[in-house]
Amino acid sequence: MTGIEIVYTLLGEIVVILAILIVILFLFSIFFGKLILKKGIVILPKVTLFIINTLYSPFKSIAKLLKLDAHLIDDISIEIRNDINKKKFTKIPASKTLIFLPHCLRHRDCPATLQKEGIKCTCCGLCSIGVIKRKAQPLGYKLYIVPGSSFVKKIVLENRFEAVIGIACHEDLNQMMMLLSDFCPQGVLLKKTGCFETKVDVSEVLDKINSKI
Ligand code: SF4
Repeated sequence: MTGIEIVYTLLGEIVVILAILIVILFLFSIFFGKLILKKGIVILPKVTLFIINTLYSPFKSIAKLLKLDAHLIDDISIEIRNDINKKKFTKIPASKTLIFLPHCLRHRDCPATLQKEGIKCTCCGLCSIGVIKRKAQPLGYKLYIVPGSSFVKKIVLENRFEAVIGIACHEDLNQMMMLLSDFCPQGVLLKKTGCFETKVDVSEVLDKINSKI
């Protein structure tokens, strides 16, 4: 065997070993993730979260290949982060906590306008945003209705805060929680996703808001 052939053989073996390792880690994460999602049993959350974060893209591809739930990886990550941050989150005052709501929750006849810090809700009563705003703001929360992730990044840079509540669809929420992982993120998934008139379980959001009281 020539030197080049030996190098190629070695590279091939390394690729195969890496692929097997990724599949084993995928199965490990799905097993512990499903325990959390289906039974609420939390085992090795930080290890599982680290693996999912590190191998996010290959895991999404494997899940797609196996025709698993398209949101499974994001949902596991969100649930684990909610669990591991919960205790610390409740100890941070509402005045140091931001809430991000997606603009797609708005009613089609929403009279609010877009301003430099996002949509300025007037609490007209047509959608759940107004309900959440009326409860959250008197407690000291800063609430933002954002049209996209660029607004989130801008608001994060302009504010001093220690915790965050995010409401979004599976992938957006997971990515927001990853981006803001140093701020004890708590996430609530939309019940109906899409680009327009989405829905959220308001009681789930209020549970997070009231968890500091
Ligand atoms: S409650 Fe606020 S966000 Fe919802 S439709 Fe009315 S003004 Fe728009």
